[in-house]
Amino acid sequence: MARPIGEPTRFVELGTGDELKGRWQEVPRLTLDALRVAWLASRRQVVAVLLLQTAAGGAMAMQLLAGQRVLQKLLAIGAGQVAGSALLPAFAVLIVAMIAMGAFTALAEERQRLLGELVAQYAFAQIIGVATRVEMAAFENPDFHDQLERARSSAVTRSVQMVSSIGGVTLNLLTSGGIGVALLVLEPLLLPLVLVSAVPMLLSTVFNSRRAYNFEWAMTPENRERAYLVELLTKREAAKEIRVFEATPFLRSRYEVLTAERLRRMREFLRERRGVALMGAVASTIGMGVALAALAALIASGRIGVATAMAAGAAMQQLSTRLFGMMAGLGQLVESGMFVDDYNSFLRLLPEAGAAEEAKAAPAPGVVDARRGRRATRFNGVSVEGVSFRYPATEAPVLDDVSLRIDPGEVVALVGENGSGKTTLVKLICQLYEPLSGRIAWRGPHGEDVDPQAVRNDMTVVFQDFLHYYLTAAENIAVGRVGREPTMEAVRGAARRAGAHDFLSRLPDGYETRLGRQFADGYDLSIGQWQRLALARAFFRGGSFLVLDEPTASLDPRAESELFQQMRKLWSGRSVLLISHRFSSVRAADRIYVLRDGRVVEGGDHVELMAAGGHYAELFSLQAAAYLDQSTNVQVDVGRKKAPAVGVR
Ligand code: ADP
Repeated sequence: MARPIGEPTRFVELGTGDELKGRWQEVPRLTLDALRVAWLASRRQVVAVLLLQTAAGGAMAMQLLAGQRVLQKLLAIGAGQVAGSALLPAFAVLIVAMIAMGAFTALAEERQRLLGELVAQYAFAQIIGVATRVEMAAFENPDFHDQLERARSSAVTRSVQMVSSIGGVTLNLLTSGGIGVALLVLEPLLLPLVLVSAVPMLLSTVFNSRRAYNFEWAMTPENRERAYLVELLTKREAAKEIRVFEATPFLRSRYEVLTAERLRRMREFLRERRGVALMGAVASTIGMGVALAALAALIASGRIGVATAMAAGAAMQQLSTRLFGMMAGLGQLVESGMFVDDYNSFLRLLPEAGAAEEAKAAPAPGVVDARRGRRATRFNGVSVEGVSFRYPATEAPVLDDVSLRIDPGEVVALVGENGSGKTTLVKLICQLYEPLSGRIAWRGPHGEDVDPQAVRNDMTVVFQDFLHYYLTAAENIAVGRVGREPTMEAVRGAARRAGAHDFLSRLPDGYETRLGRQFADGYDLSIGQWQRLALARAFFRGGSFLVLDEPTASLDPRAESELFQQMRKLWSGRSVLLISHRFSSVRAADRIYVLRDGRVVEGGDHVELMAAGGHYAELFSLQAAAYLDQSTNVQVDVGRKKAPAVGVR
């Protein structure tokens, strides 16, 4: 059933108990996964952190044993058995141990921060590697966006949590080891008692961590919607329309519904969490009580002396603090491990691991393609043969058995009403999606098939919703072909051809002016100027095949006409695929294909199509009528002549 207007995303229900992700048997794997990411991000820093924490653990043990020595000496001085000066060596060791402990802990923390940053950077690089190479179809899928969001939030927030919990666990483990050794020396019986007392704490924290993870997991779609609404309400691009339409209260209330629901669920979750944490803490405290009672029994039975008992008591108290700290860290580590699991499953969307490097700038046309070991060639026309396609989210085909051909040197136009499938066909020709059936064949000069990568290199496109890069004007053009030497001469040449040079050179810093108002000294352009800049980018890119999807919608008619005349000259000998709703531009094309509901219904040049009196003639006349008065209206004798054959000629 459709969602009523104004109702936000539905909330995913939270699992409980055994339904929670991160089952107990997975805990070691999840912990290791978290460690692995840190290790991959920076072995050096991981080793440094571990060494510093080991040193801190050693200093801790030394501190305890030296403390016991100092106590013994103090008692002996009190009993008049030794002189006060006998205290000095033990006291000096204690001071050194305390200083060492503080210094190593501080250094370990510093390294840990650095490691957190490195892990985040490493994870982001991996995520970008996947997001920029995954099939376009993935972006149609909300689950993909949820996965991406989880991976991204793991990289931003969880990496720091992960590293600090790894740090916390190892520090507490090592210092507990140090204290444990000291306690063994003092009184072996007490060690297992303290260890057992920490078990309830361990169980409750790991259980709560699983719940915390599952809470955030279930909240992801809603978090994304909230983030989207915040963006709408705060971004400059949206501000104009939202204010004029006075849509703020509607959007805000939708945002508030989401935040209120999140808060309600958060409170519920925290209440449950508190109950479990409390049970764990109470059980562990009882355990510690038992251990202290054992210590009292040992003193009463005279098995240990007062100094040893005091040191053992201090060691037990320190050990239990460390162990509890370690359990909290472990809980966080398990939680991070589950997020790392999401991050890993996102990376697995791209099966070839470590392939990110390959995504780097592809070789220029005609350059030897080292990966394939053969020469990439220019192509000589394309034929679309019986292509059908639908988007993952659509039931009905968006393109149905479409066939057409674009020969070298031809300007071919695609026309059709909104939603008829023109842009989708362009996306397929640009290899952004794979046809469901049929094929798109690129032929070389001798009719041979051409390497798809070479095709991509030799093609340029201006999309309807082209990008505004908030970079300098020159960079906006040079980004058209990364890898080509961006000399100012070439950049200016491309701008001149697109009719952008005059206004670009008048900008405060000329081509070096930063565009977009988001950044300091940014300068904004009009939509028509942005469009010319996009055309300049395409000219800078060059290639044998130019695709223009509504390239001049924001240009005035005179500018459009000039541009097309120039385009013919500039692009002569190369192929152009043009989509336009302006029939004045379309009529000059060598061939025109008419799309209707995803099918090619007519094909031919303007004269043929007008004579055929079909859909093209109807659309053309409609547009012409808008410009002419009744007396000069174009008369179309619909159905006078049969439409020419459609498809590959
Ligand atoms: P045109 O360019 O002719 O206006 P499009 O190719 O953009 O048409 O769209 C053709 C059909 O495909 C439309 O019905 C549109 O709703 C649908 N469509 C376009 N893009 C997507 C998408 N990303 N996911 C699902 N359906 C889409």
